Amino acid sequence: MPEASSEPAAEPVPATAPEAAAEPVPATAPEAAAEPVPATASEAAGEAVAESVAVPASEVAARAERVAVAPTSLSPSRASDFMQCPLLYRFRVIDRLPEKPSEAATRGTLVHAVLERLFDAPAGERTAPRAKALIPGQWDRLRENRPEVGELFADDPDGARMAGWLAQAERLVERWFTLEDPTRLEPAERELFVEAELESGLRLRGIIDRVDVAPTGEVRIVDYKTGKAPRPEYAEGALFQMKFYALVVWRLKRVIPRRLQLVYLGSGDVLTYDPVLADLERVERKLHALWEAIRQATETGNWRPRPTRLCGWCDHQAHCPEFGGTPPPYPLPVGAPGSDTV
Ligand code: SF4
Repeated sequence: MPEASSEPAAEPVPATAPEAAAEPVPATAPEAAAEPVPATASEAAGEAVAESVAVPASEVAARAERVAVAPTSLSPSRASDFMQCPLLYRFRVIDRLPEKPSEAATRGTLVHAVLERLFDAPAGERTAPRAKALIPGQWDRLRENRPEVGELFADDPDGARMAGWLAQAERLVERWFTLEDPTRLEPAERELFVEAELESGLRLRGIIDRVDVAPTGEVRIVDYKTGKAPRPEYAEGALFQMKFYALVVWRLKRVIPRRLQLVYLGSGDVLTYDPVLADLERVERKLHALWEAIRQATETGNWRPRPTRLCGWCDHQAHCPEFGGTPPPYPLPVGAPGSDTV
């Protein structure tokens, strides 16, 4: 999934999720690609395997042995997958098909790790040179934890391509210092795993990059994006993830975050939004509608492909009927909606 131009993603959502139609899907394919890959944090937090995406090829056979289970919770990424294309959601969550690591997504993970670790240093030492000096060590750590990312540079014998890729990561880290001043920040939380169960029983989960709490108690949720900011007409889609997190925080702490802040390192932009109760109620209704659509598809096995320009970034064209492919046999029992088969 390359980091490329901002692709419009304001496509209609599945017909079975009318509420979801009120908001477009996430910003851009590159953004989705550059989203932090929360492998280690997820594991630490016990996040379900069903929520992970990038699967090393070596694990495919092992996973084939496991019993597929119906989805039990929703994260912003997987909600966005379903809105983009129900079949993509199935491939990722239910079939758990492997996906190749991408340079953009891996760079995003690396940059997130560097920004997080920088806050280990005393405030006065959180400088750009120090942050850039963290890159090699964090890259080593990433390769150790996720050996499959080493495949990215398997055909790079002289290391030139990796050097260029690391230089791009350096530029993204440097740009952050033009947007925020970490010497004046003291995050309350970093890489915070959150999970909340709504009254309906729907479980929402995700990982928030940074939570700042002002002396007055006001909460700011911050998310780093290594891609470019969306055009204004697509800002609402970009904010979907942030409102999702705001809803979770509200449900957990009974506090409405004062500010949602997206920091775009790719373009040097900061997008902010101050949510109100009505925003959170709206996103909750939207997620319920989305979950109902997912439940129906899970029960009936009817996961429709929804081709868009974003298919260009999809790893599953070989299994997609829109591209002449055949999905793997559906691994869950099939029944009428509302039955007890799932
Ligand atoms: S190729 Fe396009 S339509 Fe097919 S599964 Fe992927 S995103 Fe969906």
